[in-house]
Amino acid sequence: MPAPHASATASPQPAPAASTAGAEHYEVIVVGAGLAGLSCAFDLAVARHRVLLLEAKPFVGGRTSSWTDSDGMRVESGLHRVLGFYQAFPDLLQRAGLNVDDIIVWEDEIEFRQPPPAPSAVFSASLAHRALRTLGGIFTGNDYLPPMAKASAAKLLAVGLEDYAARPQELDHVTILDYAKQHDVHPDVIEHLLKPLTTGIFFIPAARYSAYAFFGLIAPYLPNMSKMSVGAFRGGMSEVMAQPLAEAIVREGGAVRTGAAVRELWWTNGRVRGVLTEDGPVAARHVVLATPLDAAQRFVRRHWEKETWCRPMLALRTMPAATLQIELDAPCMDVDHTTFGVGTSLACFSEQSRTTFRQTNGRLSIILAPAEKFLDMPPEQVLATALDDADRLGLKVRGHVVRYRVVNHPADFYALEPGQDALRPEQATPVPGLSLAGDYTRQVFLATMEGAVVSGRRAAEHARSSLAGGS
Ligand SMILES: Cc1cc2nc3c(=O)[nH]c(=O)nc-3n(C[C@H](O)[C@H](O)[C@H](O)COP(=O)(O)OP(=O)(O)OC[C@H]3O[C@@H](n4cnc5c(N)ncnc54)[C@H](O)[C@@H]3O)c2cc1C
Repeated sequence: MPAPHASATASPQPAPAASTAGAEHYEVIVVGAGLAGLSCAFDLAVARHRVLLLEAKPFVGGRTSSWTDSDGMRVESGLHRVLGFYQAFPDLLQRAGLNVDDIIVWEDEIEFRQPPPAPSAVFSASLAHRALRTLGGIFTGNDYLPPMAKASAAKLLAVGLEDYAARPQELDHVTILDYAKQHDVHPDVIEHLLKPLTTGIFFIPAARYSAYAFFGLIAPYLPNMSKMSVGAFRGGMSEVMAQPLAEAIVREGGAVRTGAAVRELWWTNGRVRGVLTEDGPVAARHVVLATPLDAAQRFVRRHWEKETWCRPMLALRTMPAATLQIELDAPCMDVDHTTFGVGTSLACFSEQSRTTFRQTNGRLSIILAPAEKFLDMPPEQVLATALDDADRLGLKVRGHVVRYRVVNHPADFYALEPGQDALRPEQATPVPGLSLAGDYTRQVFLATMEGAVVSGRRAAEHARSSLAGGS
């Protein structure tokens, strides 16, 4: 780690003092070292602000992290894919001195795999610009969808993108399933395209998935669509990305502290004056909360529950994600590529032994759906369920399992359900000394790495203008 770990010893919670005299002091404290916090702290450090980034876990990265468990198994927060049309995300890496191509392996293909005899299909991962002309173009040369369904899918995409541009709020009042039905979309498009995409990309079924969030997977990227490609990480995400970003913050003069959970905001005399940690108070002129939504709601509710500015944010719902990661004695697929397990609990998965976890003989990372079903399930039952579906999909997993881990995120995501988008808060708050960052805060890139980086950048801008304005 770039900075020493804080002591894990708990000490009595200090009472908030009226004066910051005697406390460790920074210009800005950023709470949470996910991509939003890393992006924010990096921008502030580059701008020569005295910034301290505090992370509760023993490692940086948040939902883009990786670690080694006590038995030596390499684990990640979950299967991630970098999209070639992201802009803020690669820009952050480059500015921090990282070479994107050293970190990402670009994949050639995406697969939609169904239990036989239903057809499966492998598509080029870099043809989305053709999809703008006709989605059917992606499916040319295979029988994954009948011709009528291909035309219907192309029509849905065209109408949806038009509505996204013209009336985004209206789109957020309807699920993608109802929207597709309203437009008489071919049933095969719903079963073989919409359902696997919504569960595979954002863990919730089409019947709950906002049509705004569905078209938001494409619409904001249209100007950059020619760069569409899909990339896997070339190693654990903390190791190849988050930790080097933390090191860049330290190089720029910032400080990064892991194992340092913030208990409470230090709020006295009408402004935020820092944070209270297990090791005592740390003072700052400005604090950026870059935690996931549920933690941010707890901090905000504590002081401002009755204030109108935060009511929408406190009403914003969370949704879970569930993942299973299996180390194998041999690869379970011939290539490492992103696969949607249509009609199974293996919503999205990839073999990773040639990309992310090269030290293993075989490695399967799976996003499970519906997530709610798996949250309270004993790990052995999760594995048993996944093995049954892996058998149905023809994956060579049963009999090859070396060890496995279930990694869940019960409340890390804001819900991509109808009516939720309008509740997302801006990065700027009316509270003196406080900004918000995180993928749930308002930006058009949804709950993605791109969205997290953009939110961090905006929070840094707000912090800087508050400091410059003396507030
Ligand atoms: C399984 C899975 C698959 C995903 N796949 C993709 C994908 O393919 N492509 C994509 O673009 N995005 C993907 N995402 C989404 C992406 O990971 C997130 O949008 C992004 O990483 C969120 O970053 P963040 O900084 O907003 O939040 P987080 O990464 O959650 O960071 C918040 C940090 O705050 C810390 N924290 C919380 N409370 C405290 C406290 N009290 N004190 C100090 N620190 C605290 C947390 O420990 C955490 O490190 C995926 C996410 C998951 C879970």
